[in-house]
Amino acid sequence: DAILQLDKVRRSYKTAEAPLEVLRGADLTLRPGEMVGLIAPSGAGKSTLLHIAGLLENPTEGKVLVGGQDCSRLDDGGRTAVRRTTIGFVYQFHQLLPEFSALENVILPQMIAGVSRSKAKVRATELLSAVGLGKRLDHRPAKLSGGEQQRVAIVRAIANQPKLLLADEPTGNLDPTTAEGVFKTLQDLVRNAGLAALIATHNLELAGRMDRVVTLKDGILVAA
Ligand code: ADP
Ligand code: ADP
Repeated sequence: DAILQLDKVRRSYKTAEAPLEVLRGADLTLRPGEMVGLIAPSGAGKSTLLHIAGLLENPTEGKVLVGGQDCSRLDDGGRTAVRRTTIGFVYQFHQLLPEFSALENVILPQMIAGVSRSKAKVRATELLSAVGLGKRLDHRPAKLSGGEQQRVAIVRAIANQPKLLLADEPTGNLDPTTAEGVFKTLQDLVRNAGLAALIATHNLELAGRMDRVVTLKDGILVAA
């Protein structure tokens, strides 16, 4: 029942000198409802790992299984199809569409996935209300606080009911109190939806409250 399985994932980059081996046999299994922290120094390969887990790039060797499906040999189109239906992304900077309201920002990805506008609106309203933004539906991102923007981004990421949530520094841009609130939002949504989440963070305190924390050591994932 694993949602994400990385099996001896290797990834190297060509350089002018010897190839740079960033991942050298990384293994990871994420199960439903599990929230796993990824802590590693800059340059250790966090972004590379998240991109491979998110099917944005292929490993050089090894396997990536999402929802039991081996995605390591899929072409671009195949990876995009799995990504759109199965994976949600949250970034350090929210990347909401500035010209659209909070509600529209959560409606749009659903409509792109083929959901009718009226159904998408009902779900967007429910999700935003559940994270305390019921009175902010019509606000554009610029009219929201940093924490509110990030909660909209989280809700947008899960609007299409992905199985896997990947987050890169989701609280990195927030003060500690706001980060705490955003973390709780994330935790509630992961638990309620039975998602698996891999969350890269520099915040040791929040990482310590996740189910597990892993780190990258010489290109391999080990318990932190
Ligand atoms: P982190 O996110 O932990 O900072 P990255 O995954 O971005 O680490 O990068 C790990 C290493 O791989 C770094 O040394 C980086 O310079 C190198 N790297 C990342 N992407 C590429 C690329 N496309 N081509 C060459 N080297 C890369
Ligand atoms: P779109 O729906 O915009 O065409 P894709 O279907 O290619 O995008 O990607 C699906 C998800 O992957 C989106 O949520 C997007 O944020 C994320 N994504 C796409 N490309 C990148 C990238 N280069 N780096 C990080 N995330 C990306």
